[in-house]
Amino acid sequence: MTDCLFCRIANGEIPVDVVYADDFIVVFRDIAPAAPEHVLAIPKQHFDNIVQLSAESELTAHLLNKLSTVARQLAPEGFRIVFNTDVDGGQTVFHVHAHALGGRSMQWPPG
Ligand code: 5GP
Ligand code: ZN
Repeated sequence: MTDCLFCRIANGEIPVDVVYADDFIVVFRDIAPAAPEHVLAIPKQHFDNIVQLSAESELTAHLLNKLSTVARQLAPEGFRIVFNTDVDGGQTVFHVHAHALGGRSMQWPPG
């Protein structure tokens, strides 16, 4: 039993709407979508943020490969992948996750 919300999602303790999963990662729908299509990709292993995860180059590449493939299917007109990191980055869950957002035109610069 862990206090980390996304570890609990990764091990199936908390149900989510899974769109892709394998031995290493889970991709699931965000509970509060910020776009018509909004999924999160997490490694099953705990890392606090993208700085930690990116030291594991094979796992990082795998997560981005699967997430971008899912995003392409959900949002064929285009999408955005984001890792919010720490306080100024707007991170609220400290188990690394990539957001993929699509299904509408995105604004730039982001808020
Ligand atoms: P952050 O702000 O850390 O970049 O993103 C955390 C995201 O996790 C938010 O978009 C939030 O809606 C989502 N989230 C938080 N708790 C849950 C949950 O229990 N289930 C799902 N599916 N998403 C969650
Ligand atoms: Zn965790």
